[in-house]
Amino acid sequence: IGETAIQILRAKVIVVGDIAVGKSSLIHTYINRSPEFSTAKPTFPVDYLFKTVNVQKNIHLNLEIWDTMGEERFASLAPIWYRYAAAAILVYDKTNEESFKHIEDWLQRVKMYSEPHIIVLVGNKSDLSQDEVIPKAEGVTYAFEKGLMFIETSTMDVDTIDQIFYLMTRRLLPKL
Ligand code: GDP
Repeated sequence: IGETAIQILRAKVIVVGDIAVGKSSLIHTYINRSPEFSTAKPTFPVDYLFKTVNVQKNIHLNLEIWDTMGEERFASLAPIWYRYAAAAILVYDKTNEESFKHIEDWLQRVKMYSEPHIIVLVGNKSDLSQDEVIPKAEGVTYAFEKGLMFIETSTMDVDTIDQIFYLMTRRLLPKL
C-alpha cells in the first residue's frame, strides 16, 4: 500500500461512423501499434477490444474499445451498444463526402444514447490527398461548432493514432 498502490479505472470508448471509413483499422493500429489494413471483415462479431494504458503514475486505465461493427444490423440493440460510453470517436473518410455528411447523424445518435465526457472527430485517409473531397478546414469548422476534439490522420500513421488516444485519455481521466 502507500506509494505502490495502483488505482485501476475503466472507460468505454465507442468508435462510430459509416462503413469502410477505417474504424476497425484505427482500433487495430492503436491496439497493436502497427498498421494492418483489414481487407475483409472477420465473419464473427468482435464486440470490443481492451487496452490498458498507464496514463499517469500509479493509474491504470482499462480502455474498452467498441467497434460499430454489427451495430447497424441490430438496430434494437443500439441503446445498449452506446450506453455508458465515456468517450466517442466519430470517424469519416476524407475521400467520401457522404461519410462526412453522416457525422451529424452519428453525433445525434451518440448523444441520444449516452453522455460521453469527450467526443473526438477523426478525418481519416489523409494519405489519399489526391482524392480528398473534405478539406481539413471543413472538419475543423464542424468540430469547433460542436465542441469536439479534431484530428486528421491515416490509420497507417501509428504515432498520430497513438496521440489521438493519448490526448483523449488525458482529458478523460479527471472525469472518471
Ligand atoms: P470500417 O468498416 O470503418 O471498420 O473500415 P475498415 O477499417 O475495415 O477499412 C475500410 C477500408 O479502408 C479497408 O480497405 C482499409 O484498408 C482502408 N483504410 C482504412 N484506413 C485507411 C487509411 O488511413 N488510408 C487508406 N488509404 N485506406 C484506409
